[in-house]
Parts: sequence; structure tokens; C-alpha cells
Amino acid sequence: MSNNEKIALVSGANRGIGEAIATGLAHEGVHVLLGCRDLANGETAAAPLTEKGLKVTPVQLDITDDESVERLAKHIAETFGRLDILVNNAGVGLDFVPGLSVVEKMEQTLSLNVVGGLRLTEALLDLLSASPAPRIVNVSSELASFGLRHDPTWEHADKVLPTYAASKAAVNALTVSYAARLADKGFKVNAICPGFTATAATNFGPDRQPEEAAVIAIRMALVGDEAPNGGFFNDAGEIAW
Ligand code: NAP
Repeated sequence: MSNNEKIALVSGANRGIGEAIATGLAHEGVHVLLGCRDLANGETAAAPLTEKGLKVTPVQLDITDDESVERLAKHIAETFGRLDILVNNAGVGLDFVPGLSVVEKMEQTLSLNVVGGLRLTEALLDLLSASPAPRIVNVSSELASFGLRHDPTWEHADKVLPTYAASKAAVNALTVSYAARLADKGFKVNAICPGFTATAATNFGPDRQPEEAAVIAIRMALVGDEAPNGGFFNDAGEIAW
């Protein structure tokens, strides 16, 4: 590892937007750890990237599992001694899933999107603090924007996903809290919305492709010291909270 080489971890990097973020960061010369629940899926995702000469390493990561998260933090500490970029991408939306009560949907969604991201962030804070320019990107959603949702002309005004939106509103709140708490250590902690994108989570419905969705996450992962801290962004700029 050269001293200038940045090390990033992307959760949920075996498919969808996480895979595209990981690929884009690797193209920027970052050594990317592909956090994947099932390591075999991570190895499948990594293979074509490694063939192209990109530096990617699949790692087992289930953000709902203390042991998995602690094992990975230990591995990063022993291998790299620091982490420069954390992209909290792993997430789920269960509002349209049949067979679950709304309470079960809420509990499971908060457990993954909010508590899972928090667990991973907390476990990696010391390693991020060892970076000269630590960056955390939390993958959120415009559906959590109270500002946009109060606008009846907003293009997604008809989309009502109560448990998903609540979970991402919590992600936004955590983003602001971590940004304030870590500002004097040089961190930049920002939330992004990738946009409505063709992935398994949306039954590949929208036209927007993961590579386009990944652009804002990659940009915020690589921002300089003058960049905003504690904001919420998409391709067009700042999103109303
Ligand atoms: P996706 O294709 O369903 O991918 C979700 C990823 O999260 C998968 O890699 C999945 O791994 C992983 N994951 C699930 N549970 C996990 C756990 N316990 N630990 C670690 N990883 C876990 O979804 P996506 O559309 O790419 O979404 C990525 C992020 O973007 C999410 O946070 C989502 O809320 C957000 N987002 C998506 C859209 C959109 O339109 N697609 C819009 C706004 C925001 P497995 O393969 O093992 O299940």
C-alpha cells in the first residue's frame, strides 16, 4: 500500500448502487473494500474489477451482526491501520413487501438502515480518525426530505413509503450529529440521495442506472477540506432537509 493510496469501505457493495460506488471509487485510484454479507457474492462482484487492474478486495460484512462488524474493523486495523472513506450504502425498503406488519417493517428497516449504519460507523471511528482526511457518506433518500415532501409539485410527491422514509430521516439526523461531533477532527460527514434507480430494490423499474446514481456518492467521498460538512446532496446540489 502506498502512503497516498486511499482506503475505502462500501457496505452492500456486491450489487446495485453500492457496487457502482465501489467501482467508481476504484476507478479513482482508491483501494476499495467491498463489504458483502455473502463473501462469495463479493468475490463474484470483484472478479471483473480485479481483471481490469482495479484495487478491490471483497470482505464479509453484515451490518446487523456485531461479530461481523468487529471482525472487519480488526482486519482493517491490522491490514491498513486506518480507513479514509466509509460509504454507508447497505439499506432496504420494506414498505411494499407482503406478509409483514407495518411494525415488523419498521423494526427491520430501522435495524438495518439506522442501527446497522450506526454500528458500522461507531466500529470504524478510530480507524477513520487515523486518516488525514476522513470522509463518511451516508446513502439516504429524498423521500426523507420534509422540505420536498411538503411540495405537491415535487416529482415523487405521490410516493408514500412510511417506514423507509422514517429510517432515512433518522440517517439524516445521524449525519448532522456525526458531522458536528467530528468536525474538529477534519471529518466530512454528508448524506446523499442517489436518485430513483434501476436496482433489485426498485424491481429495476426506473431508467436511471447505478453508475449515474453513484456519481454524487463518489464526489462526496472524495471532497477536499473546503467541502461542506453535515449536508444532504444529490446531483443537482443541496437537498432541503
Ligand atoms: P439493492 O440492490 O437492494 O442493494 C442493497 C445492498 O445492501 C445489497 O448489497 C445487500 O446485500 C446489502 N445488504 C442488505 N442487508 C445487509 C446487511 N445486513 N449487511 C450488509 N449489507 C446488507 O439496493 P440499492 O437500490 O442498490 O440501494 C442501495 C442504497 O441506496 C440503499 O441504502 C437504498 O436505500 C438507497 N437508495 C436507493 C434508491 C433506488 O432507487 N434504488 C433511491 C434512493 C436511495 P445482499 O445482496 O446480501 O442482500
